[in-house]
Amino acid sequence: MNQISDNLDLVKTAIERAQSLAPQTQPVTLIAVSKQQPQEKLDAALAAGLRVFGENRVQEAQTHWQHHKKTISDLELHLIGPLQTNKVADAVALFDVIHTLDRPKLALALSKEMQKQNRQLPCFVQVNTGMEPQKSGIMPQDAIAFVKDCQEDYGLNICGLMCIPPADEEPVMHFALLKKLADAAGLSKLSMGMSGDYAAAIQIGATHIRVGSSLFGARLPRD
Ligand SMILES: *Cc1c(COP(=O)(O)O)cnc(C)c1O
Repeated sequence: MNQISDNLDLVKTAIERAQSLAPQTQPVTLIAVSKQQPQEKLDAALAAGLRVFGENRVQEAQTHWQHHKKTISDLELHLIGPLQTNKVADAVALFDVIHTLDRPKLALALSKEMQKQNRQLPCFVQVNTGMEPQKSGIMPQDAIAFVKDCQEDYGLNICGLMCIPPADEEPVMHFALLKKLADAAGLSKLSMGMSGDYAAAIQIGATHIRVGSSLFGARLPRD
């Protein structure tokens, strides 16, 4: 499984190059997206020094990481997939950062649960920059008001905005829109960029990139 450490070197080099070309350099957190990967690859990623992982399903994340959470103190888990309100308690218990806050009902549920567990997790508000009907995320025109409600009405720690651009469109215009909305909302963090486009995202100001297949190779099918 040396492959993962080789892949990591390539990704790190590409991140550095993108940062060197970016107009303003800011630190970039590489989130290794470990969904649908076998346990041996996760172990290889840990051996390569990776500590920040992204998962899009609560239950799979528990299977992958719950046992490691007890022994690896600097393990950091990011939820990057849609969150149902009935999974909020498990999500707050396991994850360190939520990237997919996208509706008032979820804001309320997270707020209550974080108080209950006394865990204030930083959250990104997910914006549906492509305004795709089937995709989660708050509509761009509602994003700034929603951020304010999350902060003032629900007392949540909103650290930034997140987007997943439409698969068939040039991602750069979506990254630029997310950056503009974050600036207007007074937020400094941007979760954007995946294997195919993280260099472009960094150019536009990404602070958190979510990289799966470039690190781990192809994903296993879901059963
Ligand atoms: C799966 C996933 C990724 C990683 O995608 P790759 O193209 O494999 O890097 C990033 N973000 C989200 C939200 C995902 O669900």
